[in-house]
Amino acid sequence: MYDCAILGGGIAGLSLASFLDRRSIVIEAQDRVGGLSRSYRLNGIDYDIGPHVIFSKNQEVLDLHSTMIETNRIKRSNQIVFKGRYVKYPFENDLSALDPADRDYCLQEFLHNPYERFSGTNMLHFFLGTFGEGITRLYLQPYNEKIWKFDPSCMDTQMVERIPKPPRDDVIASANGTVTEGYQHQLYYHYPAKGGFQTLVDAYKARAEAAGQDVRTSSPVRRLTRLADGWTIETGTAEFQARQLISSIPIHELFKLLTPPAEVAQALQRLLYNSIYIVVIQCRKDKIGDHFALYVPDSDVLFHRVSKLNHLGEGYSLPDGGSTLMAEVTFRPNSYLSTLRECEVIERTIADLEKVGFIDRVDVVDTAIRRERYAYVIYDLDHRRNVDKILAYLEGIGIKSVGRFAEFEYLNTDAVVERTLSLARSLNCAH
Ligand SMILES: Cc1cc2nc3c(=O)[nH]c(=O)nc-3n(C[C@H](O)[C@H](O)[C@H](O)COP(=O)(O)OP(=O)(O)OC[C@H]3O[C@@H](n4cnc5c(N)ncnc54)[C@H](O)[C@@H]3O)c2cc1C
Repeated sequence: MYDCAILGGGIAGLSLASFLDRRSIVIEAQDRVGGLSRSYRLNGIDYDIGPHVIFSKNQEVLDLHSTMIETNRIKRSNQIVFKGRYVKYPFENDLSALDPADRDYCLQEFLHNPYERFSGTNMLHFFLGTFGEGITRLYLQPYNEKIWKFDPSCMDTQMVERIPKPPRDDVIASANGTVTEGYQHQLYYHYPAKGGFQTLVDAYKARAEAAGQDVRTSSPVRRLTRLADGWTIETGTAEFQARQLISSIPIHELFKLLTPPAEVAQALQRLLYNSIYIVVIQCRKDKIGDHFALYVPDSDVLFHRVSKLNHLGEGYSLPDGGSTLMAEVTFRPNSYLSTLRECEVIERTIADLEKVGFIDRVDVVDTAIRRERYAYVIYDLDHRRNVDKILAYLEGIGIKSVGRFAEFEYLNTDAVVERTLSLARSLNCAH
């Protein structure tokens, strides 16, 4: 009998196990730990499911992640590619890069904003009220429609409400040609010196095992049975018992093992999320320059972001000097995009990379593609109500939830670890 059984060996499950001082087991379905934070390899270059950079407003977590493993500290160099021009991210801090008519539209509507006094009740209102019509219509609205594959007027403000209003003087200065940085907490980030983001997850696994915790891979949980004093967890090949059950697996996977009441099942059915294609293109050379991430709001380009992995350090550059680019394409399950074959996604990605001027097709030497089912939670207008209902039900039957798709929130790894630290502290205290 373990004290805690933790379902899922992503960063949530492994960090939690490493922080707990109670005897625990992590049970992971895949043959390797990591979940969404796993890394893969193409011709010696490690890549993640969308480059996973290490940054945080939480100093405790940032210190932990930047010292647990060897990292490169890198200055942000991200650009928005708009009507063929490179505009430094964030958009509102580099308005002079736009053509004069677009620049003046953005500035004037920001300074004299009729939407300012409407408190944001949805994401679109929030953008209009905070940034004005110009910045919203030219960039924020099309880019967000593209990444979410959902209309921002049907999304709530949980994700965006912490975005500060840009200072008036900064926006005026940016229109006059003085580029400022914006969002300081992401200005510098860390990235593992080698091995991709997987290195951080592996470090948590090693920490958990050094603390005496068990980690089982290739063990998909197939059945859960509630006992008087805990739970039995059955995988295809083994059975474990634990007093406390903690789930870090996607909520939709957990509910395949439960029989909830109708209103909870209905709330679950209403949760929306996006999947993602990660398309890796290696080429002899590119035309991106020394930038890391390029955001592309155009609706007729398949991907929303392209990252150049060479920027992450020496360990991510091909020996012959070529480049490794990663394009990200989100799609809702059962939508039109979900029906595309992987070879079509690769082909359209190469065509669009050429169309926006990032590469010449003749320089492509190799490609890879991965499809990840649970990538982004969609904060539709009913999201909070439905998630609260589901989590309350789970708490009621004695299952604690922690992690991105277990709590069904947009949590980056730093926020996930903030929550596992807090959960571990409360469980350790209760011991
Ligand atoms: C495109 C993209 C880019 C991102 N970029 C960043 C970034 O730059 N920085 C950052 O900090 N974060 C980033 N993130 C977020 C980060 O990936 C997540 O916060 C983190 O990986 C979530 O970890 P988790 O453990 O909560 O969930 P997951 O990683 O989803 O882990 C859940 C685990 O449960 C397992 N599982 C599922 N079903 C079962 C079952 N029946 N039995 C046993 N195990 C099961 C899965 O195999 C998986 O390993 C990004 C995410 C995406 C999609």
